[in-house]
Amino acid sequence: MIQINNVSKIYRSKKGTVTAVKDVSLTIEAGEIFGMIGYSGAGKSTLLRMLNGLEIPTDGDVIVNGKSITKCSSAELRKSRQKIGMIFQHFNLLWSRTVLDNILFPLEIANVSKKERVERAKELIKLVGLEGRENAYPSELSGGQKQRVGIARALANNPDVLLCDEATSALDPETTDSILSLLTSINKQLGITIVMITHEMHVIQKVCQRVAVMENGRVVEEGHVVDVFTHP
Ligand code: ADP
Ligand code: ADP
Repeated sequence: MIQINNVSKIYRSKKGTVTAVKDVSLTIEAGEIFGMIGYSGAGKSTLLRMLNGLEIPTDGDVIVNGKSITKCSSAELRKSRQKIGMIFQHFNLLWSRTVLDNILFPLEIANVSKKERVERAKELIKLVGLEGRENAYPSELSGGQKQRVGIARALANNPDVLLCDEATSALDPETTDSILSLLTSINKQLGITIVMITHEMHVIQKVCQRVAVMENGRVVEEGHVVDVFTHP
């Protein structure tokens, strides 16, 4: 479902050249929860952002549902991106808009009719357990509630894939567990493929089936979570 073929990413700037990802190849199966773990600077975020074309590989290709992310027009990329939701460590909500409006936003962009938008938003609010908070502003919500808005927004256009960029790293342990449970239930209920990056091993152990360990831009180990984490 997601194929990462010999992907490298080099950032060039006035300060010099950084090879953030070096010749990574991975296959992520439809419906699985796949983790990428590594220290800060290992290249996880760059790799994740190449799965939805937020970064374009310097070399190699990423194929999602049979479509190349690197070889399509920007209009095609925009369309593909609607089928790939993403959530973030710091939530990236629209702070001047209510919970409901944050969730309606991606539906407006996708030109969904007003009636459908409102119905869909209601379903999503129920799915993530935010009933009664529709008219709250993000600043009035706890961290876990903010991430629930992020999840609802990411799922608005029925994506096949949900990318999670350190989605629980700003949350306390209890809230982390509740968000991870929600993600697991979304994976089961909707059959959505989840790719998550984190520097926290317990996050991977709690929800992922398979994991890739990244170091200095490379995948240094890959496999089932139990095998990777019980190596001598
Ligand atoms: P991680 O998510 O594992 O912390 P990143 O993908 O963010 O790793 O970063 C990998 C490397 O690429 C780091 O050395 C980082 O400084 C560098 N890097 C990331 N984004 C950029 C950018 N936009 N421009 C230049 N260097 C970058
Ligand atoms: P965390 O919970 O991880 O500390 P926050 O949600 O506080 O993250 O903030 C994430 C980003 O959004 C920060 O850059 C912050 O400045 C910005 N931000 C947070 N709350 C508001 C707000 N009420 N209005 C505008 N920007 C905000």
